[in-house]
Amino acid sequence: MTERLHMSLNLIMLGPPGAGKGTQSERFALSRGIPKISTGDMLRVAVHDGTEIGLRAKAIMDRGELVSDEVMIGIVRDRLGRPDALNGFILDGFPRTVAQATALDEIMTGRGPLIVVDIVVPEAELVRRLSTRMICEDCGHNAALGPGDAGERCAICGGKLVQRTDDSEAVVLERLKVYRANTKPLVDFYRARPTFRSVDGAQAPDRVAADLAAAIAAAGSGRGARVPGVSDLAGGVR
Ligand code: ADP
Ligand code: ZN
Repeated sequence: MTERLHMSLNLIMLGPPGAGKGTQSERFALSRGIPKISTGDMLRVAVHDGTEIGLRAKAIMDRGELVSDEVMIGIVRDRLGRPDALNGFILDGFPRTVAQATALDEIMTGRGPLIVVDIVVPEAELVRRLSTRMICEDCGHNAALGPGDAGERCAICGGKLVQRTDDSEAVVLERLKVYRANTKPLVDFYRARPTFRSVDGAQAPDRVAADLAAAIAAAGSGRGARVPGVSDLAGGVR
């Protein structure tokens, strides 16, 4: 038991754009005192700061395509090597391809098991959520506000809320296509592992958070039957 308390909690969140990975990882990370590592947020900071990676990534992100595996793996390898990540982390937005997942296994050698949670949401709901959400220009915090609330400020830092440039309908459809082709196959890559769980993301945020915490506890203890059929929910993303 003591052993387990000292074991690091290494989490990855899978799921399509708009599934709530960002919101849920932020909550969970705060409650457990582990860093939330969002590759999308890191890239947006790089774009905002005008770094070399940011300059290269901006056009790719605005088209809804993926930044190269080589760049992303380098970014994540560095970030996971920082001291605050050694006792656990929650990764949001990485891995997004099988090559990234394979590299992550290699990075994690000797660092304890990965817990993998797939957040399942029907596609029609994703499009609705993405086209109405806003994001803080300064800290990346998500706000479920419509364009009519554009005058509102960020609840975390008071920054200006804006629509993400890749949340236009055309780009959202492209991102869902990219998800189906590149990221959905990761569910099969991880499904057979004893630390894989699915959570129904088409519920109120508090319910998702509760299910997520329960799934992580069960996966981490090696106990608890895997909830059968959650990933087969009617209308689930295919
Ligand atoms: P989403 O809301 O679609 O989950 P993110 O904020 O995670 O979006 O990422 C936004 C964009 O950043 C992606 O559409 C992609 O262009 C780029 N990106 C983020 N993470 C990765 C990654 N692991 N591999 C490749 N590209 C990435
Ligand atoms: Zn903010």
